[in-house]
Amino acid sequence: MSTKVRARDELAVEIRPGIFRPDWSVVTTTAARQALAARVAGRAGLLAHWSKPLSAAADLVWQTVLRMFVRKGRPPRPAEIASETGLSLDSVIAILHGLEERDLIGLKPGTDAIRFAYPWTERRTPHRVAFGEHLLWALCAVDALATARMYRSDVSVDSACAHCASAIYAATALRGRTLRTVSPPEAVVWYDATFPGCAAASCCPSIAFFCSDDHLEAWLSSRSPRPEGVRLSIAEALEVGGAIFGPVLAEAVAPEAV
Ligand SMILES: [Zn+2]
Repeated sequence: MSTKVRARDELAVEIRPGIFRPDWSVVTTTAARQALAARVAGRAGLLAHWSKPLSAAADLVWQTVLRMFVRKGRPPRPAEIASETGLSLDSVIAILHGLEERDLIGLKPGTDAIRFAYPWTERRTPHRVAFGEHLLWALCAVDALATARMYRSDVSVDSACAHCASAIYAATALRGRTLRTVSPPEAVVWYDATFPGCAAASCCPSIAFFCSDDHLEAWLSSRSPRPEGVRLSIAEALEVGGAIFGPVLAEAVAPEAV
């Protein structure tokens, strides 16, 4: 791989002082690197939004939404976010719309109500995550696994093969740094690399679990056109998720430490 390509592939944005997303340092495998590079290439338009960093207030609201989502087991309401952060309701609502423009959350059309906040959604999906006392829905297979590293916690994920619907289960260990169990052991994740627009609307349904390579291949062969993307082991999918979501709730690094 040339230096030039490598530099482009490793593009990341500084989401708060000293914190870069994705965190390429957690990626150790070629497949995970390919999936992340495809993601960066597909989301080039979004990177433009990040040329202007999130304001401190917007960052506070973003993190508050994600912390309250798991505490309440549902998306927090704007008034609850205002009460939690000490910001005015008007400010919170304006910030929520700004976060939606960056594709960090999604609102119900024509309202100020949160519909999803990556990696979570209030909508039922194939990916159910047991997190603390709640069962929550994740937007895609990678998002489901990523919740562990994001919250420095351990989770278990119940999903199903996108081809045959047989049950797939994965549980993390060491606060999302590794896997405790995967069932069936030969399960894989397909990381779709086609991103025509918002991730939650387009690619997420195609970032799915399969019970085996055979069923992934059967599913790919049945689609027209055949999807482009990367086949990941569950461990590789955990790496990709960790790189994307691990930094989201990380504390800013003091300037002298950067
Ligand atoms: Zn299957």
